[in-house]
Amino acid sequence: MTQSVKDKKKTDPLKKLGEKLSFKKKSAWQGVKKREQDEIYKLSETYKEFLNCSKTEREAIATIESWSKKHRFVDIKKAKKSAKRLFLKYNDVAGALVVVNDVKSLENGFLMSGSHIDSPRLDLKQMPLYESEDMAYMKTHYYGGVKKYQWVTRPLALHGTIVFENGSAKTICVGESENDPVFTINDLLPHLAKNQNKKPITTAIEGEQLNILVGSIPYKFKSEKDSVKLAILDHLNRTYGITEQDFVSAELQVVPSGKARDVGFDRSFIGSYGQDDRVCAFCGLQALLDVTSEVKNRNLIVTFFDKEEVGSIGNSGANSNLVERIVNDVLQFYGKGDYNTLIRSLANSKFLSCDVNAGIDPEWREVNESMNAGKIGFGVCLTKYTGSRGKVGTNDAHAEFMAELRHAFNKDRVLWQPAELGKVDQGGGGTIAYFLAKYGMEVADCGPALLSMHAPFEISSKVDVYHTYKAYKAFYKYL
Ligand code: MN
Ligand code: MN
Repeated sequence: MTQSVKDKKKTDPLKKLGEKLSFKKKSAWQGVKKREQDEIYKLSETYKEFLNCSKTEREAIATIESWSKKHRFVDIKKAKKSAKRLFLKYNDVAGALVVVNDVKSLENGFLMSGSHIDSPRLDLKQMPLYESEDMAYMKTHYYGGVKKYQWVTRPLALHGTIVFENGSAKTICVGESENDPVFTINDLLPHLAKNQNKKPITTAIEGEQLNILVGSIPYKFKSEKDSVKLAILDHLNRTYGITEQDFVSAELQVVPSGKARDVGFDRSFIGSYGQDDRVCAFCGLQALLDVTSEVKNRNLIVTFFDKEEVGSIGNSGANSNLVERIVNDVLQFYGKGDYNTLIRSLANSKFLSCDVNAGIDPEWREVNESMNAGKIGFGVCLTKYTGSRGKVGTNDAHAEFMAELRHAFNKDRVLWQPAELGKVDQGGGGTIAYFLAKYGMEVADCGPALLSMHAPFEISSKVDVYHTYKAYKAFYKYL
C-alpha cells in the first residue's frame, strides 16, 4: 500500500464508518496461523474417529459412553452419591452426559445442549428376505428425508441389533472391514432406461425398489424354488443363530459402507455419511469433555436424541418427555426429585439446540438468500428461527437469549454467522428446538452448515467443525 492510499483509508469517512458499524461475515480460514490449523486438523481426526464408530444411534451411544468413561463419567445407575459426572442412557439409543458442580443450585436450571444421533438411512423391513430370478434380496423401508436415487449402485453396510425372544441380543456389522462383503442396490442400465429417464427424479427410483442384493448360491448348490433364500437363511442361522422370525425384533440399518474421508487437495473438508447430526453430537461431547475441568460452579447437560429425522416421535425422541426424565433422574440422584424442583429446573435451563444448517452451494444458489444463509468455511451458524411458510413450526429464539449467545461467542473468539435454512417460501425444516422450549427454557439453534445434507456422503468444513466445538465450549463457559 502506498502512503497516499494509506492516508486516504485513514481519512475516508465512509470506510471508517463501515468498519465501525457493519457486520461482515468472515472466512474462518482468514488469518489462521499454522498452530491453529494444526488444532483444527487434529480435532477433525478425532471427529472422523467418532463418525467411523457411530453409524447408528446405538453405536453413537456406545461411543459416547466409552469416550466419557475415560473422562471419569459414571453410569448414573452405578454412581456413588458423591459423583459429579454422570452418564445416562435410554433404550440404548438416546442419552445424556451430566456435570453437576453445585447441587444447591439445581433448581436454577442447567446449561443444556442437545443434538440428534439418528441419520437418514434404509431400515430392513420386518420380513426382508426374498428370492427373485435366483438371486436373494432384502427389502428396506427408508428412514427420514432420503433422495432415493442417491442410494443405488454404491457399496452398503448392514449395522444393527437382533433381539431374541429370551431378551438376549446379537450385534451385527457387515460391510465395514476390508475383508467384509458389502451389499448394494442395483439400477437400470442407461441402454434400457428410456422410460425411467422420462420420470421425475423423485419417482425414477421407487421406495419399493430399494432392495439390497444379498446372495445367489442355492442351498447345497441345488437350484430349486427359494433355495437361494434358504441358503442365506442357513448362513444367517449358522453365523448369528437367527431364524426368519427374529427379523421382527431387530433393528437392522443399511448405511453407506466406508470411513469418513478428507476431501480436497488441501484436506479442508470432511466427507462422510451421518454428519447430520453427528457433527453436533461429536462437538457437544468433545466440548463437554474438554470444558468440564474449566467450569467450576455450573451444572451442565449434553443430551443425545433419537428419531429426529422422523419427527422426534417415540420415547427416545425429543417430542417425548425424555428431557424431563433426564433432569428428573439427575434431581432424584441428588435427592431433589420433587415436582416443583423439576419444573423450575427445566424452566430455568438454557438450551442450545445443536443441529446442522444448509450451506450455500454455488450450483444451487437460488434456494438461498445469500445475506442470511450459512456459508461453508465461515464458522458456526447461529440460527434464531427455522420453520417454513412464514416461520411455521419454529421456536424463534428470544432476542435476549440471542444476545447472551453472541456475547459468549464473541468473548471466546468463536467465528460464527447468522443463518437461516433457505430463502423465504423455498421450503424449510425444523429441529428439536421447539420440543425443548415447551418446558419454558430458552432455546436457540446452533451448528455448522453442510453441503449435500442427508446424502450418503455429506460434506462439512473442518474450520466450521472447529468453531462449532468452540461455540459449544463458550456456551458452557460464559452463559
Ligand atoms: Mn439434523
Ligand atoms: Mn436431518
